[in-house]
Amino acid sequence: MRAGLHTHFLIGMLATMLLVLGIMSGIWWQQRGAAREQAEISRNAMHEMAFTSLKLRGQGLTQLLADALVNPLYYFDTVRIGEIARSALQQPDVLQVIVFDAEGRLVHDGSHDIPGFGQAVEGPLPSPDTSTETPDVRWNEHQVTVGLPIRIGEEHIGGVRIALSSSGMAALEHDAIATLSQQSEQAIGRNLLWMAALFGALLLIGVVISLVLSRGVLRPIRDLAGAARRMESGNFDLGLDSQRKDEIGDLIRAFAHMSDSVSRHDRDIRRIAYGDSLTGLPNRLAFRELLDESLQQAHAGGNELALMFVDLDDFKRINDSLGHDAGDEVLAQFAERIRQGVKMGGDPNAVVARFGGDEFVVRLGARQIHDSAAHVAEAILSELQRPMLLHGRQLFVGASIGITVFPQDGQSSNVLLKNGDIAMYQAKLAGKNCFRFYSKAMDQAVGRRVQIEHDLRGAWERGEMRLVYQPIFRLDNGQLVGAEALLRWQHPELGIIPPSVFIDVAEQSGLIEALGGQALSQACQSALRWVREGSAPFVSVNISARQLRAGNLPEVVAGVLAATGLPPERLHLELTETTVLGDEHQAIDTLARLRELGVKIWLDDFGTGFSGLSHLRRVPVDGVKIDRSFVADVLRDPDDLALTSAIIAMAHSLGITVVGEGVENEGQFAVLKERGCDQAQGYWLGRPMSGSELARRLQA
Ligand code: C2E
Ligand code: MG
Ligand code: MG
Repeated sequence: MRAGLHTHFLIGMLATMLLVLGIMSGIWWQQRGAAREQAEISRNAMHEMAFTSLKLRGQGLTQLLADALVNPLYYFDTVRIGEIARSALQQPDVLQVIVFDAEGRLVHDGSHDIPGFGQAVEGPLPSPDTSTETPDVRWNEHQVTVGLPIRIGEEHIGGVRIALSSSGMAALEHDAIATLSQQSEQAIGRNLLWMAALFGALLLIGVVISLVLSRGVLRPIRDLAGAARRMESGNFDLGLDSQRKDEIGDLIRAFAHMSDSVSRHDRDIRRIAYGDSLTGLPNRLAFRELLDESLQQAHAGGNELALMFVDLDDFKRINDSLGHDAGDEVLAQFAERIRQGVKMGGDPNAVVARFGGDEFVVRLGARQIHDSAAHVAEAILSELQRPMLLHGRQLFVGASIGITVFPQDGQSSNVLLKNGDIAMYQAKLAGKNCFRFYSKAMDQAVGRRVQIEHDLRGAWERGEMRLVYQPIFRLDNGQLVGAEALLRWQHPELGIIPPSVFIDVAEQSGLIEALGGQALSQACQSALRWVREGSAPFVSVNISARQLRAGNLPEVVAGVLAATGLPPERLHLELTETTVLGDEHQAIDTLARLRELGVKIWLDDFGTGFSGLSHLRRVPVDGVKIDRSFVADVLRDPDDLALTSAIIAMAHSLGITVVGEGVENEGQFAVLKERGCDQAQGYWLGRPMSGSELARRLQA
């Protein structure tokens, strides 16, 4: 057990009391001893005094007797002597009167018959020389005897001796001593009483101090310690206040102030640590804590939970093309749309958090969780159908949503988060702007992706990769002027895997650099063969963002050109708009160096990015390929037609060639031709084909 301040104080007080008690009993003991000693001294002095007074009385009486007996003894008047002796015997304490003659024989003893008359007196007698000043005095315990010789002139005629009893004096003395010791005992008793009273007063003072200490100091300290513990556990509602004017009051007030400021700091820190400054939503940290807590509760209550991963589609593109400030603005608006969607979804237990980047999570806890989650996901997607307004321009964004349900899909937060991510990824693969519930099969899909990455290594060397060429035609005269090289992967087990699946994997795993180089090299060899066979088409090769970022693309291209001997103007490099926009300065520099080699640069999928037409002025390119999504709608959607026309006009004003992609019918072809588009490719004009087949088409 812990000894508190109060216990310490009580122990200290007890020790002090014991000490005081010890000192007091010491003093009392000493006083008692002194009183006893004093009584002893007084008794001795009294005894001495009584004895002396008895002796003096004896001397005086003997002197008187000796004087009175001079004549009777001279004349031997025994009657008179007897009278005198008897009168003396009647005096208090006188035991014996002996009158004797000069020879020491008894003359009278005050009795009537004087039994020892004429006989020698027993006991010592005063010598004849004894003077009246120094009588012969003797004493013992019981009596005092005084003797004096009696003389007439110089003649010694006898003497007198009296014995006085000391018993009367002893009785007096005893009484006096008794009184004295009684008084002394009383005094000691009084002292004891005083001391006890003093001790009692001290004890009382101690108890009062203890009470005051306990109420005035210890209790506030205990309260403060309790408050500190509550503060430690995160409860800042301490209710501390004091009207006291002393230091304890100051301490309590200071503590209350401190608690206020710690609470403020705590709130600030929580806001910073648990909040996302951009969207004001809880962040990953806060969400993880909340999720763990919710899972525990769901476990205990046997409830269901759903986690929803919401990922903004193509956010990187937005960020790259519009800049980070605009990206932030888009994220903030996106967060708001999610909030609105969740609100419309009607789950009162929903919590939205930003998980990082363009990834948001929603925890749902309504009943019939499956239906409710689907409802919320639809609400979010429908919220996103309205365009966002960004610096006066409209922007459409989509979201891919993955949903995972506790407890079916996973028990722990880690598993659920992983599954949510997988489901979201599947929504992306399914074409984006949609939602998917997690299923076990998705794990296999992820596994497939891992397998694709694995199998992709060395696929070129094993001869599983080949290039096909899609012809590109001039629109004014319909002449085949070149071809775009497109990769095909003949997987030994999975069959033909489209570039839309493996290019992504190659890009993310870094395999694209080697693969791209090989494709480039082979495309150049094919083109050289066509040139040698008499025609002069160009070959157009797709370059991925990663190849451009690697920085050595001009050297690689120069190397391939040197190795194959293909004239540089016969090689076109296709880069997507967003690839170029990723790091514009580096890209512009690389593009300039590539153009110095003599190769032509085309911007692929033009129009899907956000660069706008003005961007074309800054980036040194030779041509743009209008994305097939615009060409597809060019007959139906006046906006797409307007945009396509604007791109063509703008490009021409800058001296840039325009290629229309994805021409699937004659109508599209006619419109592009009518609007002055320079070249076109598409299934209607020619599907991707082998190099030798293209060579035949060139001959035709
Ligand atoms: P892309 O560069 O825009 O290539 C054009 C794509 O449109 C090709 O798909 C082509 O087959 C397809 N296409 C052509 N005409 C039509 C049409 O009339 N209708 C429709 N619906 N589609 C048409 P593919 O071959 O599946 O390639 C897809 C993408 O993969 C390419 O888009 C390109 O970005 C990438 N890719 C292909 N080969 C390579 C390569 O060697 N290196 C790099 N980095 N990327 C490549
Ligand atoms: Mg292309
Ligand atoms: Mg394209």
